[in-house]
Amino acid sequence: MQDSETFTGGCACGQLTFRAHGAPKRVGLCHCMTCRKTTGSVFNAFAIFPADRVTISGESRSWEAMPGGQRRFCPQCGSLVVYSDGGGEIEIMLGAFDRTDLFRPTYEAWTKRRESWLCTPDLIGYPENRGDVTS
Ligand SMILES: [Zn+2]
Ligand SMILES: [Zn+2]
Repeated sequence: MQDSETFTGGCACGQLTFRAHGAPKRVGLCHCMTCRKTTGSVFNAFAIFPADRVTISGESRSWEAMPGGQRRFCPQCGSLVVYSDGGGEIEIMLGAFDRTDLFRPTYEAWTKRRESWLCTPDLIGYPENRGDVTS
C-alpha cells in the first residue's frame, strides 16, 4: 500500500462520497451496542484516518450517540458512512469503500458484546473501549 494512494467510497445510492488519502492510522472492529444498532449488523468494521486526509462530498445527516460523536449518514439511502468525534480522526466504515479487501483489522473493541459464533483472525481484543478512544 502506497502512502500516496487515494481511496474512494460512499453510500449505497452514491450521493454521499468520500476520498481518503494515504494509509489509515489503524483498522478495527467494534461490537458495541451503538455500532450494532447503527449499522444493523452484529459488528462494525472501520478504518481510521487523520481528519485532514479525508474529503467528504454530498448531503449528509448525523446522529450523536454521545455528545460530539457524529455518525454521518446519507439522508436518501440511510447508509452510515463516517464517524467523527470532532477530534483529529475520522472513522470510515469499511463497507463504504468502493473496493473490497483493502484493509485488514488489527484489533476489536467491546468483545464482551461479540457474537459467540463469529470467527475473526488473531486480533487484539478489548472487552470495552480501546483505551483512550471510543473505537
Ligand atoms: Zn445514499
Ligand atoms: Zn462501537
